Amino acid sequence: MNSLKPVDATRSRGRVAPELHPVSRTPEEWKSILEGMGERSFRAKQIFQWIHRGGVLDAEAMTDLSKELRHKLNDAGLSTPAEVAEVQRSADGTRKLLLRLTDGYSVECVLIPMTRDTDEAEEDDEEGSLSGQQRVTLCISTQVGCAMGCVFCASGKAGLKRALGAAEIVSQVLIAKKYLEPGETLRNLVFMGMGEPLHHYEETVRSIRLITHADGIAMSPRRITVSTVGLVPGIRKLGQDFAGKLGLAISLHAPDNETRSSILPMNERYPLSELMAALREYPLPPRRRITIEYTLLQGSNDSAEHALRLVKLLRGLRCKVNLIPMNPIDASDLQPPSEEVVERFRGILAEHRVSCSVRKRRGDDVDAACGQLALKQPLVRLRRGDDVPA
Ligand code: SAH
Repeated sequence: MNSLKPVDATRSRGRVAPELHPVSRTPEEWKSILEGMGERSFRAKQIFQWIHRGGVLDAEAMTDLSKELRHKLNDAGLSTPAEVAEVQRSADGTRKLLLRLTDGYSVECVLIPMTRDTDEAEEDDEEGSLSGQQRVTLCISTQVGCAMGCVFCASGKAGLKRALGAAEIVSQVLIAKKYLEPGETLRNLVFMGMGEPLHHYEETVRSIRLITHADGIAMSPRRITVSTVGLVPGIRKLGQDFAGKLGLAISLHAPDNETRSSILPMNERYPLSELMAALREYPLPPRRRITIEYTLLQGSNDSAEHALRLVKLLRGLRCKVNLIPMNPIDASDLQPPSEEVVERFRGILAEHRVSCSVRKRRGDDVDAACGQLALKQPLVRLRRGDDVPA
């Protein structure tokens, strides 16, 4: 039963063994553990449902289990891998949850009510409208800090502290659901918080399998979007593993290698030719598009020439472009372009029939906007003895 104890993540800078935390177990894994304990295997589904559907981690509250099994589960340490340390609410309704992990690190997730003017237009309308319900998007993190080093991103500036285990990723959803307000429904999940989801591919994929499991949160993969800086092998594998059903967002940010490498160091490893080949081969279902994220940085990637090169690069790719005027961060002097320059860029794309929108800033009064999920507070709370990020 020792194996049910939460992993001591402090020992692990890179991987956190997922099978060691009960929240990261699939029903099948629960089954073999229970059988090893001499328990009936159908209990596996019950326990999984309590945790993932009910958000319950107190075994005493699992009322359909025997007293004996409840005690065994409690003794084995059925504890939460993350606890809410702070909640901040923005004037626009965005809620940022600061979660403390068992080893002292913190990460954040952000609940973002969707607005009619922007997000609804991007929604596919296969399911009709959810009458009277306010749809909410949840943005979650996959790492404490990030190793990708993108020059305009606060998480990148912090450097990688460690990967999150699948239990810690799933827990963000379980916890955030408790912060939905009456009339709100969790509609979309985006892996766009701190960290690079495809850097620790196995943890991310395990978390998605848990989140989409019919006995758990049961979220449709079509409502989940994984955003990546462009780790090509991971993109290819994700396409295969989920048959293209997962939403894919690519942080492109530049239409040529020279510009892109100056912003995203990872471009040296996976240059545009390789990335674009992987995108063209991604098994997109009909009517679905890849999201191309393009953060506009004044004087770096925002010229008319860049826009025209982008049009050319994306030709023939089923995609929509999301322009994000950079959110300024303390750790960088880079700035967003003026509104006129943003509009010129958007206009050039539109003129060439590239589908495109300008992302609205949400929650920036609580530093929940893109790239601000770290540092200021500092939100990557450092444990004693850690270096303070530059
Ligand atoms: N590692 C993933 C998720 C990162 S965050 C990725 O690279 O896609 C999600 C998006 O926010 C990315 O497109 C990222 O480039 C962008 N972003 C990061 N910092 C930003 C900032 N300061 N202003 C605007 N967008 C930013």
